[in-house]
Amino acid sequence: MRILICNDDGIDAPGIRALEARLPALGEVWVVAPDGPRSAQSHALTMHKPLRARPSGPRRFSVSGTPADCVYLALHELMDGPPDVVVSGVNDGGNLGNDIFYSGTVAAAREAALGGYPAIAVSLHREPGDLDAWFETAAEVTARATEAVLTRGLPPRVLLNINVPNVAPAALKGVRAAPMGRREYAPLVEARHDPRGVRYYWIGGPEYVFADIEGSDGPVVEAGWAAVTPIHCELTLTPFLEDLRGWTDA
Ligand code: MN
Repeated sequence: MRILICNDDGIDAPGIRALEARLPALGEVWVVAPDGPRSAQSHALTMHKPLRARPSGPRRFSVSGTPADCVYLALHELMDGPPDVVVSGVNDGGNLGNDIFYSGTVAAAREAALGGYPAIAVSLHREPGDLDAWFETAAEVTARATEAVLTRGLPPRVLLNINVPNVAPAALKGVRAAPMGRREYAPLVEARHDPRGVRYYWIGGPEYVFADIEGSDGPVVEAGWAAVTPIHCELTLTPFLEDLRGWTDA
């Protein structure tokens, strides 16, 4: 059994270390991860500058690119054969609702799913101000999910997006299947001036709201459960496709 691990927080992040500690019990682990933080890079590929992959231990590479670059290089160059499953994480922070579109963690799993490999993205949902970080809880949930995926398989071009509350293993209520909900951020642009008087900006803020969709990923995680959401790469809204044919020529 061959398991590829990636992330978007960088190869030295505590979340990926938690998976590296837990998943070797299931098979041969390969790690190909960015050489530094690449959160919110989504599915970007580096196409206009070279990529470096530096060995960082046996079956372990640090890459100068994005999470999707890492999976691409791992699958098509660095590994000595195809993985049985690809696991991305554990991200430091939930990837809930809208986050799925921005997340490098989820995109690494999606890159694997697009290539036909079973894939899991996993994130630890930490509240602002949380001092503890229970990555081991998330690693344990991931190990069980990985076993389930290896046993049962996944539909083609589907990944599992797992979000785990930041609690000790014994305090986790369990694991629930949940649809993607709506996590929305308040728009925030902070304009400043550089020493030459030219404006520059910081975008994005910590504020968010969970739309109160009963049983969706955010409320499930806030209630103390790990939420598992199947994410499909087929993005067509099929019912509306029929309506759209009324607007178009065919
Ligand atoms: Mn991240």
